Amino acid sequence: MTQTEASPPSTDFIREMIDGHLKTNRFQGRVATRFPPEPNGYLHIGHAKSICLNFGIAAQYRGPCNLRMDDTDPSGESLEYVESIINDVRWLGFDWEDRLFYASNYFEQLYQFAVQLIKEGKAYVCSLSADEIREQRGTLTEPGKESPYRNRSIEENLDMFARMRAGEFEDGAHVLRGKIDMTSPNITMRDPVLYRIKRATHYRTGAQWCLYPMYDFAHCLSDSIEKITHSICTLEFENNRPLYDWILDELKVESHPQQIEFARLNLTYTILSKRRLIELVVKGYVTGWDDPRMPTIAGMRRRGYTPEAIRNFCERIGVAKNDSLIDMALLEYCVRENLNEKAPRVMAVLNPLRVIIDNYPEGQTEEFDSPYHPQNPGMGSRKVPFSQVLYIERNDFIENPPKKFYRLSPGKEVRLRYGYFIKCASVVKDPETGQAVELHCTYDPETRSGFAPDGRKVDATIHWVSADHSLPAELRLYDRLFKVPNPVEGSSDFTELLNEQSFEILKSCRVEPSLANAAPGSRFQFERVGYFCVDPVDSYNKTLVFNRIVTLRDSWAKIARQEKK
Ligand code: ATP
Ligand code: MG
Repeated sequence: MTQTEASPPSTDFIREMIDGHLKTNRFQGRVATRFPPEPNGYLHIGHAKSICLNFGIAAQYRGPCNLRMDDTDPSGESLEYVESIINDVRWLGFDWEDRLFYASNYFEQLYQFAVQLIKEGKAYVCSLSADEIREQRGTLTEPGKESPYRNRSIEENLDMFARMRAGEFEDGAHVLRGKIDMTSPNITMRDPVLYRIKRATHYRTGAQWCLYPMYDFAHCLSDSIEKITHSICTLEFENNRPLYDWILDELKVESHPQQIEFARLNLTYTILSKRRLIELVVKGYVTGWDDPRMPTIAGMRRRGYTPEAIRNFCERIGVAKNDSLIDMALLEYCVRENLNEKAPRVMAVLNPLRVIIDNYPEGQTEEFDSPYHPQNPGMGSRKVPFSQVLYIERNDFIENPPKKFYRLSPGKEVRLRYGYFIKCASVVKDPETGQAVELHCTYDPETRSGFAPDGRKVDATIHWVSADHSLPAELRLYDRLFKVPNPVEGSSDFTELLNEQSFEILKSCRVEPSLANAAPGSRFQFERVGYFCVDPVDSYNKTLVFNRIVTLRDSWAKIARQEKK
């Protein structure tokens, strides 16, 4: 599947539009994009789609892509979020060089643009309350009513606006509104609020301002200041595009970017809304923004997802003009596909069952040279110690097996991965629970190669570790965060739909000794079990902690095969 990475990005309606602009020379041959997060939360996989799109287009057309903190609303923004955003975009593999910008750096410029609008008679100070403004806005079928303050003189507006900035008025006492058209069929154009008074400490500008621009005013002008050519945003801003253009046209700015809307990513079994993600963090439903069950970049990184897998996923889903819900299985498929290629294979036993090889010399150890990857000898090999006492997976043994159970049971022979055939002779059981506590087996010394010289076959190969040589480990198994595919549908409290079984800790696992010095964040395939990553936070020298990245089962494979046809 490396073709996906190597092939040029397939075209889409955004790239077609850019190609058109290049033909007509609308932007003098330039293409410049930006990724503009508001630092009021951590980035999630939906943002990754936007990041891949903006940086991807810039790279393809050899133009810049800026990283801009869209930090014009002081509430909820913080340096912690800025740092996490920087970290996450970089980890995803993108580079903005020296073009990290902050909309809050433009506050003075934006204010002067507002003054200019007032001078042109295109903006006025309105003293209606927020409720009154809402009531007078009208509906889809009814036009709005003009504000009684709409015809204030330019002088009065300039004076009032300056005093708003100077802090002479209470929060909410006045706002600055664009003077557009209260009868416009597009409600966004009915004299939108451009500035509001808000006493709040901004994480960068502190108490310098008590007047803050609204998103619609700040965004288009920030794009223009940075000479962005294509301002790519999500579909919900389609109705705001006329306002984006109106502001830039009225101010006759030099650079007038083209806003283009695309469908936001929605993913099954999770939520991609910062507001709701914050709620999960604050109310303790998850351990933090980097909880491996979170759809955040930080969570996916901690869980062990690779940047390549996320980029491949974003490319595969493409961009569209209609909102859709993408199956989480596709993301997992991309993760598996990438890890299948690059994750070394090792052995780990989740639920150990002791096995004693009765005819193997006590105290003897031998080592099996075992390749890290079946298809990639270049990844090398490691020595896996074998001795008289082993652990195998508890569920690889059933005393009274059903018909199609091919693994270990009394009298049955199986192959140990990389080694001998063993046969189960007897079971030691807990007299109280009846549960198997120990198996006695025999091995066939002739089968060290994994094959019997007499040609007899076994039905199964199972994984194992040597009891004395293996290391204890804690394995954390993660499942989907929500029980239902679309937790935001309907109005009930979404937290009631959380999957209570999304997290399981197994504390008595055993892993092969080669993992003793596995680096935090390194990823492995535990054979027959799944892909795992050394938890970068909780794994200190003594306890190895692994996060399950994804299971081996590939329920998406069938669908992907159909896709390729
Ligand atoms: P909110 O919903 O709170 O406004 P947001 O998710 O839009 O937040 P921003 O920080 O404004 O967060 O987003 C930065 C950029 O990422 C925007 O251009 C936005 O359109 C894009 N983006 C956000 N969510 C998604 C998503 N689910 N799919 C694709 N792009 C997204
Ligand atoms: Mg937003």
